[in-house]
Amino acid sequence: MIFDCHAHVASNKVLPDRFFDGWVDNIVAAMPGKATDFQIAAIQRMFRELNADHDCSKFVAEMDDAGIDKAILLIIDFGFVYQGEADPIEDIYAIHRDIHKKYPGRFEIFTGVDPRRGREGVDTFEKSVRDWGFKGLKLYPPCGFSPSDERLFDYYEVCSKYNLPVLTHVGPTTPNLSFKHTGPNEIDEAAMRFPKVNFILGHAGTVRFEEAALIAEFRPNVFLDMSGFQTELRRDGFADIMRWHKKRGLIRKLLFGTDWPIHRFYGSQKKWVEAFDDLRDSDVINQQEYESIMYKNTQGLFDE
Ligand SMILES: [Zn+2]
Repeated sequence: MIFDCHAHVASNKVLPDRFFDGWVDNIVAAMPGKATDFQIAAIQRMFRELNADHDCSKFVAEMDDAGIDKAILLIIDFGFVYQGEADPIEDIYAIHRDIHKKYPGRFEIFTGVDPRRGREGVDTFEKSVRDWGFKGLKLYPPCGFSPSDERLFDYYEVCSKYNLPVLTHVGPTTPNLSFKHTGPNEIDEAAMRFPKVNFILGHAGTVRFEEAALIAEFRPNVFLDMSGFQTELRRDGFADIMRWHKKRGLIRKLLFGTDWPIHRFYGSQKKWVEAFDDLRDSDVINQQEYESIMYKNTQGLFDE
C-alpha cells in the first residue's frame, strides 16, 4: 500500500498559467548564459502540456505504474491573489468532485480556502465535507496569510468537529507570490490552540526541515510532508536527510508525498516511489519504517 499525501490536478483550470509562468522565470534565471526566446517558449510549452491532464487520467496511469494506491488532491484557492486569472472556486470544487466520483477509492480531496472568504468560505468548507465527502483543508500561505491567522480559527473548529487534517505549504514557491508566511513556525499558534487538529507542514520533511522538525518533535499534532524531496535527490542529499530524521525519532511524523505534477519534468511517479524503495534496500530505513512513511502515518490521520 502506498498513499501519496500531496498531489494536485494537473490542469490549467485548477493551477492557473500564471503560477507556472513564475516557475518558468526561475528555471530561465538558473540557466547558464542568457536563454533565447525560443528556449523560453519551449519551456513554457512544456509546462502548458504538463498542465493539461484535466480528468487525472494521465495521473492515475502513473499512479498505477508506480504502485500508488491513493493520493490526496489538494485544492489551492488562488481567487484572491490571481484575481481575474483564476477560475471561480466553485468550478474548481466541481472538477474535484467529478474526479473523486470517477475514481472511487483513489483520491481524497482537501478543500482549498482563503480566509478572506469569511463566513461563506467556512460554510462552503463544511458543506464540502458533509455533502461531497472532502476530507481535509489545504492552505496556501503564499497567497498572503499565515496559517495562524485568526480568520482561520472557524475553519479549524470544523476540522476539530469532523476530525480533518490541515495541510499548509512551507517554503518558497513561484516567485510571483509572497514567501513571508511560509516558515514552519507560522503554524505554532494554530497547532497550540487546536490540539485535536492534525497539521501537516507541506514539504517540511525536506524544505526548512531543521526548524520544522523542532515543532514536529514537540507538538503531537504536527506532521512533515516529504514532497519536494526530489530536489534533494538530485543534489544527492536525500538519504542524509532521512538519516537525520531517523536519529531524532521522527520517522513517525514523515508522510510520503510527490507534489504531482510539479516535479514531473525530472521523473515519473514510479521514480519517486523507487527513491524510497532504495532507502529501504540500502538499509537507511527498515521495512517497518518504510511502511510508516509510505502510508501508515498518513492513514493514521484519518482514523477516528
Ligand atoms: Zn503542492
